[in-house]
Amino acid sequence: MFKKILVANRGEIALRVQRACREMGVTAVMVYSEADKDAKYVKLAEEAVCIGPAASSNSYLNMPAIISAAEVTDAEAIHPGYGFLSENANFAERVEKSGFQFIGPTPESIRIMGDKVSAKQSMLKAGVPCVPGSEGELPDDPVVIKRIAKSIGYPVIIKAAGGGGGRGMRVVHTEAALINAVQMTKAEAGAAFNNPAVYMEKFLQNPRHIEIQILADKHRNAVYLGERDCSMQRRHQKVIEEAPAPGIPRKLIERIGERCVAACKKIGYRGAGTFEFLYENGEFYFIEMNTRVQVEHPVTELITGIDIVKTQIMVAAGEKLPFTQRQIELRGHAIECRVNAEDPYKFTPSPGRITTWHAPGGPGVRVDSHAYSNYFVPPNYDSMIGKIITHGDTREQALARMRTALLETVIEGISTNIPLHRELLLDARFQEGGTNIHYLEEWLAQHKR
Ligand code: ADP
Repeated sequence: MFKKILVANRGEIALRVQRACREMGVTAVMVYSEADKDAKYVKLAEEAVCIGPAASSNSYLNMPAIISAAEVTDAEAIHPGYGFLSENANFAERVEKSGFQFIGPTPESIRIMGDKVSAKQSMLKAGVPCVPGSEGELPDDPVVIKRIAKSIGYPVIIKAAGGGGGRGMRVVHTEAALINAVQMTKAEAGAAFNNPAVYMEKFLQNPRHIEIQILADKHRNAVYLGERDCSMQRRHQKVIEEAPAPGIPRKLIERIGERCVAACKKIGYRGAGTFEFLYENGEFYFIEMNTRVQVEHPVTELITGIDIVKTQIMVAAGEKLPFTQRQIELRGHAIECRVNAEDPYKFTPSPGRITTWHAPGGPGVRVDSHAYSNYFVPPNYDSMIGKIITHGDTREQALARMRTALLETVIEGISTNIPLHRELLLDARFQEGGTNIHYLEEWLAQHKR
C-alpha cells in the first residue's frame, strides 16, 4: 500500500479522499489554491501545498504545479477526484511518466472514453447497446448531415465528442434548423473543449438516466455495484440521485451490468468507472462512460457497504478486488441531494460567507461537505458545497429520512437550493418514483416564481 497520496482536487471530494486515506493509514497531501487556504481539509491536513492563485487554470488545472507538489512531498500516487484533471489523459500520462501512480484507469482508457465518438464505437464492439445515431463524427457536407438526420428520424441531438458537464449539446426538431445547429455546436465545442468534432444521436423523448457503477483491478477482475437513477436533472446536470432505480426489473439491470463488466475486461479497464445509459421502454442505450469517481458514488456505497474511494486506492496499488460479483449484495435504498450555493429558483450562484452551518444527523444520514460555519464559499469554482445522502430499508424510509434531514439543515449567509429540495421531496410524482430526465425542468416551468 502507498504511504502517501497527493489529492489533486478541492471541495467535498478532496475531503472524501482525505477521509479514505486516513482510514487506510495513508498520509494525504492536500493541494489548494489561494482561495481555498481556509478549507476544512487543508486545516485538517498532515501536509498541504499551495499550488497557485484562485483561477483553476493556474492551480487545479496546472499540471506542473501539481506534479512538483507530489515531488517535493514524496507522494507515491495522485488521486484526481472528479472534474478538473480527472479525465485528462495527458495528465494521467504525465503523472505516470513522472514516476507516480495515477489513481484511475490507464491514459489509453481515458483517451478512448473521453472522446464520446470513440467511446461509443468501442462499446458497440463490446456488445453494449448505444443510442441510435451517426456512425462517428459528422462530416462537413450539409447534404450528408441532412441524410443522416433523416435516417435517424427527428428530433435529433447534436453532441460534442469532447463534451462534458452537460455542455455542448443541442436538440434539433426540424431539418430547417439542422445545419445552423450543427455549426453552432461545432463552434462552441471547439472553444470549450478544444475539439470541434460533433456527432448525432436520436433525441429520446422520455428516457431515464440510469448508470452502472463498476470497479476493476489490474488483474482483469471487474464487478458492477448495481445502478443509480440520476434522472432528476436541470440543464443536463444531476440534482438528485438514488439507488436502486425504482421499478426497473432486476433481471434487466443484471443483464446490462454483466455487459459492462465484460466491456471492462475487454478494454483492460482498471479502477472505478461509470457506464451511463438512457433507459426507455425497457431498453438501455449507452451514452458515455465516466472514467473516475462520481459525485453520486455515496448512494452506491450506502446500499452495497463498499467504500468506492478506498477500493480505487487499493486497486491502484495493485491489490486484487476484495470481493466477487456474488458477494455484492444490495441493501435498502439510498438517495442523494446535491447542495449548491445558488438561488433555489433562479439558479444564480451565491458565493460568500456561510454564517451558520448546521448539518443534519441521525440514523441513515450521511453528509459529505467541506463547509462549516464561517466558511467562505469562493466564487471561482463549481457551486456545489456538499451532499446530503440518506439510506433506509425501503425507498419510503430513505425519502422520509431525507425530508427530516433537509428540515434540520440550516445554512445561513448565502442562498442554497435546500428549499427546492424540500419541495421536490414532497412532490407526489417524484415520491412515486421513475420520473424521466425532463421531469424536473417541466416541474420548474410549472412552479415558476
Ligand atoms: P455529459 O458528458 O455532458 O454529462 P451525456 O452524454 O452524459 O453528457 O448526457 C447528459 C444528459 O443529456 C443525459 O443524462 C440526458 O439527460 C441528456 N441526453 C444526452 N443524450 C441524449 C439523447 N440522445 N436523448 C435525450 N437526452 C439526452
